[in-house]
Amino acid sequence: MFIAHIPSAYLLAKAITAQCKQFGLSARDIIVVAVIGTIFPDIDLLYFYFVDDRQHHHHSYPTHWPLTWLALLILATLLCRQASAKKSAAILGIFGMAALLHLLLDSVVGDVWWLAPWVDQSFSLFTLEAIYQPGG
Ligand SMILES: [Zn+2]
Repeated sequence: MFIAHIPSAYLLAKAITAQCKQFGLSARDIIVVAVIGTIFPDIDLLYFYFVDDRQHHHHSYPTHWPLTWLALLILATLLCRQASAKKSAAILGIFGMAALLHLLLDSVVGDVWWLAPWVDQSFSLFTLEAIYQPGG
């Protein structure tokens, strides 16, 4: 459930607020960007239900690939070198960190394709066995 990620975004925002104020962002801005960033990977649920007809696990989509968010963090780092883009870089960086935090938390008991797109295998820290069977 994507709403369960919001507290982690708040904790992330609180942890990085002091470092991010140099970029002209308020604590409120940082929290808002982190919350949007941590919810964003689950936007693929719209594709899962309305386009893909539940054919593939939504964690296998690029919005749940760590590479997607690492690339955004690299872009943020490169943008940070330009004096005029530091605030935008900080926003992208916070967004990317929050999305990666989402994937870390999804990995505790959910499947995440950490090596996608190169390896089509999901990983999770723990596996939960189903106690009840649907319809049973
Ligand atoms: Zn997710």
